[in-house]
Amino acid sequence: MIITVKRGADPARVQRELSGRGLWTHAVEGETGVAFVVEPHSMAVPLAQLRRIEGVQAVSTSPSAHPKVDAQPPVFDVAGVRLGEGAPAVLMGGPCCVEDEAQIQASAQVVAEAGGQFLRGGAYKPRTSPYSFAGHGEPALRWLRQAAERHGLRVVTEALRPEDSGVVAEYAHLIQIGSRNMQNFALLAAVAKTRRPVLLKRSGSATVEEWLLAAEHCLVHGAAGVIFCERGIRGFDPSVRNLLDLGAVSLLSQVLHQPVIVDPSHSAGRRDLIEPLSRAALAAGAHGLLIETHPDPANAQSDGPQALPPPAFAALARALRLA
Ligand code: PEP
Ligand code: MN
Repeated sequence: MIITVKRGADPARVQRELSGRGLWTHAVEGETGVAFVVEPHSMAVPLAQLRRIEGVQAVSTSPSAHPKVDAQPPVFDVAGVRLGEGAPAVLMGGPCCVEDEAQIQASAQVVAEAGGQFLRGGAYKPRTSPYSFAGHGEPALRWLRQAAERHGLRVVTEALRPEDSGVVAEYAHLIQIGSRNMQNFALLAAVAKTRRPVLLKRSGSATVEEWLLAAEHCLVHGAAGVIFCERGIRGFDPSVRNLLDLGAVSLLSQVLHQPVIVDPSHSAGRRDLIEPLSRAALAAGAHGLLIETHPDPANAQSDGPQALPPPAFAALARALRLA
């Protein structure tokens, strides 16, 4: 059972009232207020009695461990773009990382001409090897935003460290949490406190329940909303980079009514599988796609083999009727 405290009420007073009735509780504090979780060994007290305690906002007996995720609307507005159940599929595209101004300008033009709504590109890159290019940081955020504005696009980009969240929020409409950080709870809280919506990529080893709980962390700390992004989980077969879990996509969109998009690029790891995986993702109920494109994939600083060259990106958008 979860007991939420009214804004402005004294949580300590509410907790004393609860313990006076034989309830063992612990407090959970987020940007949206204080709540008490009632431990299972507490006394059984009628709910009506608990609801009458001064300062109690609501008493929830929902068995769900992620009530804020459950309460998310199935479709919401992200910087003027509707995303979720019943809305047209959204296209997010761009390079893996922002390499220079010309590269991101060229990418923005490709995405806009293909009918995309969001420009992606990493300014802070999580790299498996410490010797790989890790992004240009704030200058890249500036180039990304300028390129997006010039072509009427919104910006989605990753925050890597809690201390970068503020600057990322200045330039991004939607903040990406990368798969390696899905359970970096300090980062989730810092990003959520900027109040931007979050694009939460699934960790390569997370269960759906862990993914939902990570989203709950974001919502408890004030994120405007969470969009789930399936990008493949770790399989046993190296033929594809990651195993695209379309069952999880259908579960989220059709059963749990959560906004969910698919990243076929990091799932496949190779450009020849992007189109079939994109089709499968939309058929499974995805509300959008996040696809890497690069003006010159052969010379990309990261993820070149999976990046679509501009003509292929445009052809894909046309084939999927996203253009
Ligand atoms: C990315 O979007 O470029 C990225 C690093 O993705 P992921 O976190 O899914 O590996
Ligand atoms: Mn990438």
